[in-house]
Amino acid sequence: MSRPVRTRFAPSPTGFLHVGGARTALYCWAFARHHKGQFILRIEDTDLERSTPEAVQAILDGMAWLGLHPDEGPFYQMQRMDRYREVITQLINKGLAYHCYCSPDELEAMRNEQRSRGAKPRYDGRWRPENASRLGLTPPAGIAPVVRFRNPDQGPVSWEDGVKGRISISNDELDDLIIARGDGTPTYNFCVVVDDWDMTISHVIRGDDHINNTPRQINILKALGAELPEYAHLPMIHGSDGEKLSKRHGAVSVMQYEADGYLPQALLNYLARLGWSHGDDEIFSLDQLVEWFTLENCSKSAAQFDFEKLRWLNNHYIKQQPIDFLAGQLKGRLHAEGLNPENGPSLASVCELLRDRAHTLCELAEEAAMFFREPKPSREALAERLVGEVPKAMSALSAQIPESLDATQASALIKQQLADHGLKMPQLAMALRLALLGQTETPSIDRVMAVLGRERIQRRIASALSASI
Ligand code: GLU
Repeated sequence: MSRPVRTRFAPSPTGFLHVGGARTALYCWAFARHHKGQFILRIEDTDLERSTPEAVQAILDGMAWLGLHPDEGPFYQMQRMDRYREVITQLINKGLAYHCYCSPDELEAMRNEQRSRGAKPRYDGRWRPENASRLGLTPPAGIAPVVRFRNPDQGPVSWEDGVKGRISISNDELDDLIIARGDGTPTYNFCVVVDDWDMTISHVIRGDDHINNTPRQINILKALGAELPEYAHLPMIHGSDGEKLSKRHGAVSVMQYEADGYLPQALLNYLARLGWSHGDDEIFSLDQLVEWFTLENCSKSAAQFDFEKLRWLNNHYIKQQPIDFLAGQLKGRLHAEGLNPENGPSLASVCELLRDRAHTLCELAEEAAMFFREPKPSREALAERLVGEVPKAMSALSAQIPESLDATQASALIKQQLADHGLKMPQLAMALRLALLGQTETPSIDRVMAVLGRERIQRRIASALSASI
């Protein structure tokens, strides 16, 4: 790399942090880390109608939850207005930008005339100073002029895109872009250019929905005498039907994934692989991503969001977490369900028992809930299971439970009762499940008993036996 690597993530705060934005941020972050460079966060909040403080906060929260901490920023474009105006004045003074006094009606007439000739509608440059004087135009009263950038008339504007390869656009496709509105406010593409220049961004990595902006931005950067960044445009993320990923397909907001019980590690790992690959590796750490990340290995075509794969990865990371962390996560979720996790078996032991089969923390909490509720099996269910010798076996089992028991001891006790009462495992195990947890779908009964402990087992068996009479 010829210059220090500096990347930026530049979201517009108009809603929430979209998973597509998060993927862009992740790639910018990983690229900067890979090259021991800097990662910058810039909030593009100049669209006053659509930008909100809540949306800014949602982006900051999403980035913090993912752990994508910027080395610089957040910078806010609204705080840089003076700088944009300063550069606009410089461009005007150098003859690289000029005032245009066309009214909306005039522009409309211009376009209609071009369309009627079969030409592409575009601004014809009539207020370029040399044209205005040739045409004898003088600034009309009462019109606040816009400022237009004098786009080169000829030649191509080309760049070697880090993902897409060489891209070249002919300048005669581009007209003179408005860089400041009549009220003096700078326009979107212009702010991006000044920021990328001032922030000495070396690599612009962003979604390919911005590809059309790139030739215009390059032309302005060249006019400013700025060193051009490298550009890399990432293909979009699609849903299962090949359309751009949207709420229709499932959650798209990063913080919704948190609410739905995903771990940031899982979402990051998933997003890293969604549009980038390192051989057949599916599961890797952020350190490995940083070590391996190159733009060449980004896919050139759109990626398809696979919710099942994300669930699978989430299960993997849930299994990797320290038990205390999972217990902490569960505590809040159980409280939110109106349950009291302080009053029940140890949360850690419940997590240990359930986590292998949980795909999300929500699933884990749903399963865990049965340990913190008094079981209320229906009379019918009890009548179906507590038949023949089963109640006697349950009473005998209850009487023999030691003060502390592990799963092996619980299993031995159950087997003893089977032998003593001539029962088969499912007959007793199902009845115990129903009595102890109120349902027959539970983890293996010996492990459940070890988690519940003597006092709860005895109380729950007694109450099931009396309810079944
Ligand atoms: N603010 C733009 C967006 O949110 C990104 C601009 C850029 O990366 O150049 O789509």
